[in-house]
Amino acid sequence: MALEIIAHGVLAVQAIGWDSGFHFYIILIIPVLIVNSMLAPAGKAVLVVLTGLLYLLMDWRWRGAAPYMNASQTVVDVMYYFNLTCTLVILALLATIYYRLVTLAQARLQELARTDPLTQLRNRRAAMEAAQREAARVARGAGPLAVLLGDVDHFKAINDTHGHETGDDALRAVADVLRAGVRQVDHVARWGGEEFLILLPGTEVPEAMAVAERLRAGVQQLRVAGANGQPLTLAMTVGVSVLEAGGAFDQALARADRALYAGKQAGRNRVVLASPTES
Ligand code: GH3
Ligand code: MG
Ligand code: MG
Repeated sequence: MALEIIAHGVLAVQAIGWDSGFHFYIILIIPVLIVNSMLAPAGKAVLVVLTGLLYLLMDWRWRGAAPYMNASQTVVDVMYYFNLTCTLVILALLATIYYRLVTLAQARLQELARTDPLTQLRNRRAAMEAAQREAARVARGAGPLAVLLGDVDHFKAINDTHGHETGDDALRAVADVLRAGVRQVDHVARWGGEEFLILLPGTEVPEAMAVAERLRAGVQQLRVAGANGQPLTLAMTVGVSVLEAGGAFDQALARADRALYAGKQAGRNRVVLASPTES
């Protein structure tokens, strides 16, 4: 197509004259060549330089030269403005397409950088961003933020007994339970290997405990296919704390972590509420 446009441009300029404006189309070939994904960089560079040289040559050879055909000035003027208008429209379209592609690619990359590849949950970085936003809302007096830290029990044993693949299946299954068990406004993230952080905006202690208990029970009901074909069961311990206005998120997280640890010590597969006063 590029070759055809170049051939038409050259022939038209030669026949009707430089003033017909057919040479504008050759300029458009350069951005089209550059964004063409089918060309290798070296080939691209050569073609771009050749196109540029051709344009310079045409300008030098035919601008001011007498054309073969003797079209009236009016006809040449009409052609000139038609070609110029087409060129401007095509330029604007090309720029729009490139802009959309770049914006789309950027959005995809941003999404990728915030997503855990195994579970498709938010990753730790995205969770930290969400935590900062939610903590700012708490500070503005928009209500408390419940912080749930869940850790799968004896997960190392699942890996050791059934293999890493089964372990990954189990993590995906747990992620599905957590994702399905919270509201649209809540945040579920993979905080670490088999640790999950759940943020519940505007949630007081009783409701936070109920949600945590529901999630724990949901994980307990899961049946994941083990290596021996037998369905294996999972359990999760959850530490819960609530961030109130005037508190710091890091401290609420540390409290949830300590509650989680206490739950592990007390026998696992349970929900433990952090003491609200210790920091
Ligand atoms: P506890 O009940 O005290 O939490 O015991 P645990 O075995 O769950 O805890 P531990 O921290 O000893 O082991 C966590 C294991 O999680 C070890 C690590 O290999 C595994 N793990 C971390 N990330 C992944 C992952 O992406 N896939 C799989 N299959 N395993 C993972
Ligand atoms: Mg664990
Ligand atoms: Mg752990």
